Amino acid sequence: MSLARTLRTSSTTTRSATATTRKRRSAVVMMVAVIGTLLGTLLALAPAANASPVTVGLPATRAQINPVWLSAPHHDYPAVDLPLPAGTTARALFNGKVAWVGYQAGGCGYGVTLTATTADGRNLEATYCHARSLPALSTGQLVRAFEPVLSVGSTGASSGPHLHIQVKRNGVKVCPQPALRAAWAGTTYDFNNAPTSGCTY
Ligand SMILES: [Zn+2]
Repeated sequence: MSLARTLRTSSTTTRSATATTRKRRSAVVMMVAVIGTLLGTLLALAPAANASPVTVGLPATRAQINPVWLSAPHHDYPAVDLPLPAGTTARALFNGKVAWVGYQAGGCGYGVTLTATTADGRNLEATYCHARSLPALSTGQLVRAFEPVLSVGSTGASSGPHLHIQVKRNGVKVCPQPALRAAWAGTTYDFNNAPTSGCTY
């Protein structure tokens, strides 16, 4: 083999080796990209590390509330029943937009649903039930924490005047009790910490 031919052969081998290295490198880059995407998806699904506390307001004035009610378990499912007298002005637990206002026979009765999105993108929904009349709110209206939502009554599935509040985080019912206690304490509340069980009997 001539020297020139040997050099050419060697050069071809080097090119081929370089191509293999490039292929390996691009495979590694692909794998890193795939792992990165998977990690990103997992991080998006995992609870956010950053807290997203919201301002919470008491559902009535301090004078109208017995703080014992704020820890009372609810029947059947996560929610809370506050035995406020008929005609009491019930107030929003947190800022929200009116998503529903109306009458639900055999259930909520006259009620209101407020929805909000937390700073970290969670959907919050609070439904207030058993008003004595159609609440004076319109769909799309913004209601701030502690602003009036309805007048307490006993419509729908209710055996006496009380305010029923149920809260959903991303469509799942959570216990409103810790948020109510935060409102009583005058602090904000991070609904990421709201339990989905342990507040029923
Ligand atoms: Zn209830």
